Amino acid sequence: MWLKCEWIGKTVSEKGRVPVKFADGTKYSLRVDQIEKIVEVFYPGAAGYVYYVLYKTSHPEFYEKWSEEPDGGYQSEYDVEVYKVPICPVCGWEIEDLEYEECPRCGAPLYKPKYITRLILSKP
Ligand SMILES: [Zn+2]
Repeated sequence: MWLKCEWIGKTVSEKGRVPVKFADGTKYSLRVDQIEKIVEVFYPGAAGYVYYVLYKTSHPEFYEKWSEEPDGGYQSEYDVEVYKVPICPVCGWEIEDLEYEECPRCGAPLYKPKYITRLILSKP
């Protein structure tokens, strides 16, 4: 089913969930492995960007009130991928290059980076 979202977070929790804000303002988290596709729709004018998430669920009744199919506007379609990325264990800075010995932001040693999971939208 399609879910209309105003915002989608980029960091996936340890339980495999990603935070979203539905179009009515409700905050929730969706299971990343149940997201099949995301369509970004641009509405020129006040509304800006809105995301429609194609979500596989065995409880459609729970999501009914946020369900809406993408329409109108300019659409871009994405597949969803998740990647583990290293971050500074002290300040959370995303380490782009594992050759760094210390964090350019806070100076902490980076020999033992922490990893977080990022949600990446990619063109199919
Ligand atoms: Zn740092």
